[in-house]
Amino acid sequence: MSLHLLHQFPRLELLGAPTPLEHLPRLSDYLGRDIFIKRDDFTPVALGGNKLRKLEFLAADALREGADVLLTAGAIQSNHVRQTAAVAARLGLKCVALLENPIGTTSENYLTNGNRLMLDLLDVEVVMVDALHNPTEQLAEQAEQLEAQGFRPYIVPVGGSNALGALGYVECAQEIAHQSEGVVDFAAVVVASGSAGTHAGLAVGLEHLLPDTELVGVTVSRKVAAQLPVVERIRTALAEQLEVQTRAPITLWDDYFAPRYGEPNDEGMAAVKLLARLEGIMLDPVYTGKAMAGLIDGIAQNRFRREGPLLFVHTGGAPALFAYHPSV
Ligand SMILES: *Cc1c(COP(=O)(O)O)cnc(C)c1O
Repeated sequence: MSLHLLHQFPRLELLGAPTPLEHLPRLSDYLGRDIFIKRDDFTPVALGGNKLRKLEFLAADALREGADVLLTAGAIQSNHVRQTAAVAARLGLKCVALLENPIGTTSENYLTNGNRLMLDLLDVEVVMVDALHNPTEQLAEQAEQLEAQGFRPYIVPVGGSNALGALGYVECAQEIAHQSEGVVDFAAVVVASGSAGTHAGLAVGLEHLLPDTELVGVTVSRKVAAQLPVVERIRTALAEQLEVQTRAPITLWDDYFAPRYGEPNDEGMAAVKLLARLEGIMLDPVYTGKAMAGLIDGIAQNRFRREGPLLFVHTGGAPALFAYHPSV
């Protein structure tokens, strides 16, 4: 089985080079288990993060369609909107974003700092909505309005998560397989699972390239019953697109995101501090802090299928640290 069709999809070279895969010696000592980290927080556009890999494929599609606007949606502190806006800037396109306040906060920092500050620097046209209750429909309506004004918008789905965007994380799985070959045999890979393109792409890639490595998605917004179909839908469409089989079980842990999406919790913030103090690495309050809390608790509770080194995929998000200070 091969993933060769991956290279038939048009894509823009935005990443440039594989992101580093590093051992974390002090965290490993502290946890009594070898921990490695994949530095997708280090992608080279506008402070980095996982959305750039998806945008390599989505933005190529937008250009192919002759679009002059990237239209997307997310939270006020969306890392995805920030990265989409930066890619639009690089391509000379306009960016329009529907934003919601998912935690109903009036905190000045949340409303103006962090990712939101960068949206102004990037000259994003922001449209505030009460809630993204049906983003697909809301984006389609906004697209119609832009068309009526003479624009040619391209809709980038929330999180860049569809089968096309998820191709970027099949490529990340290829990097992980190359970087670990002959060096380390990962028992498991741990990643935050939100809009799920990252999780679905890694699932397809790792099932083919590292079939003995368990993939654990730590949910950041939904319980398993709601998240599983989201991951499954993208994974199935992705596998069809690549003409490969996918039948591995999908593992989701939903014990770490309470009270809700976008609202930090004590275990997540403890993980943020731990990585800062032991390794000088900045996680974030919304995604990677909670996912790392899952990894740490997963070790303590013996939740991983087998012994051996673990890989944490750092998907970015540190700009939100400023928005959540001093607290929401
Ligand atoms: C978007 C995001 C995720 C989740 O990725 P999905 O593909 O939406 O599941 C994880 N971490 C950070 C920092 C993000 O911005």
